Amino acid sequence: MSKLSNPSYVSSLLSRHGIRLKKKWGQNFLVDENILDKIVSVAALTKADNVLEIGPGIGSLTEKLAQQAGKVTALEIDIRLLPVLNETLAEYDNVTIIHQDAMKADYHQLLTDKTVIVANLPYNVATPLFYLWLKEYRLAINKCVCMVQKEVAQRLVAPPGGKDYGTLSVVTRYAAAAQIAFEVPRTVFFPRPEVTSAVIELQPYKKTALSQAEEKIFFQVVEAVFAQRRKTALNTLQAAFKLPKEEITALGRIAGIDLSRRGETLNEHEFAVLAKLFYNKINADY
Ligand code: SAM
Repeated sequence: MSKLSNPSYVSSLLSRHGIRLKKKWGQNFLVDENILDKIVSVAALTKADNVLEIGPGIGSLTEKLAQQAGKVTALEIDIRLLPVLNETLAEYDNVTIIHQDAMKADYHQLLTDKTVIVANLPYNVATPLFYLWLKEYRLAINKCVCMVQKEVAQRLVAPPGGKDYGTLSVVTRYAAAAQIAFEVPRTVFFPRPEVTSAVIELQPYKKTALSQAEEKIFFQVVEAVFAQRRKTALNTLQAAFKLPKEEITALGRIAGIDLSRRGETLNEHEFAVLAKLFYNKINADY
């Protein structure tokens, strides 16, 4: 068993390095070897894979990843953890730790088409990170296996219409095959968080229904609609695209979509059809 799965060892390691954990960075470390192994087995890594890990913490997941993958690059925001990681991962020469905020990282540099992102994500950045990856870097991500708060996992896979359905759900349904792999109880963390977690497995599609230029409009449409999710799609689209209502209604008719529906009831295919029509309309008018 790894020492890093023993809460009293972790506690003494942190105090030896003079570290008090910070809630704002979601510093709840996994101390259960079974769960760590389960995450790594969902990722199904081989030595041909490059792994990008966000938030290695004290290295519990990182060491498992280093044993399975060819190369592991891990971004850690808390500079105090770098000496700890130097110590706990000393025997692995295929790990690179970078002191970096994952929200500000240059993913063009970090991702290759062989990259698998594996992480126990800090709670406060899980949603924006998924959105960023799916919007900007999808094609360079082979697969993502990430532990997140259970509610975030439910939002990622939510079908249209329900309370969990939002921007992240539409974008995920449009851009990737996603499923909840398993739930994780609070008890396997040190210290214990207040919420249940879940591991999400997500594989971005290499091809989608839209061109890159049309996709920009897709994101605009989705963001506009969910900024005012209870309004009719017609009203939110009119406000966002500054086109006359009759023209938007006509586009809806061509798409076979009744735009007097609330925007939050539209599914990812309907959003994609609308994006294509808006794209053609905008480009025909200029
Ligand atoms: N991977 C470890 C594990 O499973 O035990 C730690 C996971 S812990 C939930 C989240 C880690 O992410 C912490 O080490 C925290 O310092 C780091 N972190 C928080 N915000 C971050 C950010 N914006 N960029 C990079 N790392 C971040």
